[in-house]
Amino acid sequence: MSVLVVGSVAYDTVITPAGKREDALGGSATYFSLSGSRFTAISVVAVVGDDFQSEHVDILTSQGVDTSGLESRRGKSFRWSGEYGTEDVSTRQTLDTQLNVFAEFSPKLAPHHRRAPYVFLANIDPELQLEVLSQVEPSPILVALDSMNFWIEGKNSLLREVVKKVDVLFTDEGEIRELSGEVNLVRAAKRVKQMGPSIVIVKRGEHGVLLFKGGEAFAAPAFPLGNVVDPTGAGDAFAGGFMGYLASTGDLSPSGFRRATVLGSVMGSFAVESFSVDRLYAVSNEDIEARFRSFSKLSQFKALTINESLPWRANT
Ligand code: AMP
Repeated sequence: MSVLVVGSVAYDTVITPAGKREDALGGSATYFSLSGSRFTAISVVAVVGDDFQSEHVDILTSQGVDTSGLESRRGKSFRWSGEYGTEDVSTRQTLDTQLNVFAEFSPKLAPHHRRAPYVFLANIDPELQLEVLSQVEPSPILVALDSMNFWIEGKNSLLREVVKKVDVLFTDEGEIRELSGEVNLVRAAKRVKQMGPSIVIVKRGEHGVLLFKGGEAFAAPAFPLGNVVDPTGAGDAFAGGFMGYLASTGDLSPSGFRRATVLGSVMGSFAVESFSVDRLYAVSNEDIEARFRSFSKLSQFKALTINESLPWRANT
């Protein structure tokens, strides 16, 4: 089944310990679409300016992404710039955010977009996320949301309205602490679940991902990489793999969500291996599948049998 995504399609300027890339293709909806479209049909709703290069639309369409909801307007495309720590590449500082054509964007969904069974509200103004959601036909199978400190701080009450309406919330550690007011991640996830979503996914960069669903938690490690070039878009690529798996298989069982989480981690791990979308775009399906297979070995160990116990030292 198909996934409708609303989010940013952008030009990013990024500085990482590996170097600098200026005005490269980025945006939350872009990373999500390139990741998710490996597994299912993705329709993107966003706006770009008249500076947006047609070769960048071609990157999306060549992977079968439906860009009929990608509006082009006079003006400049969304621009974001960020810098990652030299000591710790997982720390990021936003240097600049220019909404540009997004400031005036008011999406009108086409009939086939309204019927989308899966919806991903990628990181963008919560006002737009609400506008899209209000046009989608009632009761989609799954609605998921991602956001960022920029909106948690700038449009907090609107964002809380969106949080109320979604099934899944993707967040990082800092964001969930800010949203919930709790430092401990288990308590923070519990608090956020009381706000609306039944599933909370906490992305922890190189420390992996935690999925909270019902009373249970599932932990997936991050794929150990020796060469992290640019972490931008890892979260959106994660969401693309996660939603792509669920929409493609329709498997919403606990084991389906676990597989979706691992596939998300696999897609995120490819996104960070290059600047912009280079690696995510070029990676072969065979490489994706091989990494997915090797993931299960990462944390597999022999469980204790019923008659077995730990090798306790005598007299303790
Ligand atoms: P991530 O690294 O997963 O947080 O995603 C980074 C992507 O989100 C970049 O490609 C940016 O263009 C985009 N982005 C950054 N800030 C914002 C924002 N405030 N709203 C929407 N998209 C943003």
